Amino acid sequence: MTTDPVASDLEDLYRDLHRHPELGYQEHRTAGIAAARLTALGFEVTTGIGQTGVVGMLRNGEGPMALLRADMDALPVLEETGLPYASSATGITAEGRETPVMHACGHDLHVTCLVGACESLAASRDTWSGTLMVVFQPAEESINGAQAMVDDGLFERFGNPDVVLAQHVAPIPAGVIGLHAGPMFAASDALRITLHGTGGHGSRPEACVDPIVMGAAIVMRLQTIVSRLIAATETAVVTVGAFRAGSASNIIPANAELLLTVRTFDAGIRRQVLAAIERIVHAEATASGAPRPPEIVAFESTGVVVNDAAAVELTRSSLESTGALVVDPGPASGSEDAGIFATAAAAPIVYWLLGGADPAEFTGATSVEAIAARMTELPANHSPKFAPVIQPTLGIGVAALVAAARCWLPSHQ
Ligand SMILES: [Zn+2]
Ligand SMILES: [Zn+2]
Repeated sequence: MTTDPVASDLEDLYRDLHRHPELGYQEHRTAGIAAARLTALGFEVTTGIGQTGVVGMLRNGEGPMALLRADMDALPVLEETGLPYASSATGITAEGRETPVMHACGHDLHVTCLVGACESLAASRDTWSGTLMVVFQPAEESINGAQAMVDDGLFERFGNPDVVLAQHVAPIPAGVIGLHAGPMFAASDALRITLHGTGGHGSRPEACVDPIVMGAAIVMRLQTIVSRLIAATETAVVTVGAFRAGSASNIIPANAELLLTVRTFDAGIRRQVLAAIERIVHAEATASGAPRPPEIVAFESTGVVVNDAAAVELTRSSLESTGALVVDPGPASGSEDAGIFATAAAAPIVYWLLGGADPAEFTGATSVEAIAARMTELPANHSPKFAPVIQPTLGIGVAALVAAARCWLPSHQ
């Protein structure tokens, strides 16, 4: 709790957004709140960009344009934090399934921080010049909301920014900011593989082509891509997150489905891994005598987010000016679609991790190893127990966005 009225208003906003999470492309309430706040501050506001995205423009004289970005969507997770402002909301997934919904990735915090930063930058507009472009993005979790806004003419309609600035709350101690020059988040490719066999009675395998055995061979062989194909100096992740087949113990099904996620940090390695998956899946299907070739569909994908080294150097001291300890956590194997804004605008991106774990959880942990060990015990993003501590996370998250924007928007003397 705080006695500062501005901070306490933002804390109330955060608790309200947390209690009312919305799934990707359904962020109508969240977008409405962001739009109303920005309109009240004197921004030119446009809603419905890329379905539910919101753009706010504050044109403040000559100078560069800085884009500040927050994502708005929540996850199909049943909240187990026990917080007084926990969500009991439900929603309908893109597949039409009813599900509990929770802000388990902290996007409610991102929205609140960006609203707070807009308040501060609007109030201090006589001390800087240039254009502030703020983007509240839908559907980050399906990593296609940024592309949806770009495809809807974001930069043709509002101009090209000179820099893209964004942050993500992470289970590092509140008061710490993670900033890494170079690859910050991995490229992500989600694949759906449909295997075709020949179904029949479980007692007569000789009359069938068993897609479960075919799939099992594929799952095991896919694990050789990282261990046998990728050099020790490179990294990649290949995870089979779903294997769906069959309905009864005595039936050999006709089909099986695998869902994969692939994470890479280098475009060449990404091509190599995807080509190996294609080869293995087709070869195993052939080896099994599949009646027709398998189908491989990439249904969600986003490129690596590469923090621009020069832009990171320029922004680092402003992030330090917030009082946060700025550390280099190295690249994260998570993925993000904020890089799409930077690529589409041909602008550098600076993306940092905002510590959100209660510093009290780290009492007595003085070495890097001890802090890292505590972190692995704390609920992280996407956990039903993920619960960032409101302060100082919110205060630093607002200050970081303001300081980073100010570093790109020239000050008046
Ligand atoms: Zn997430
Ligand atoms: Zn997230």
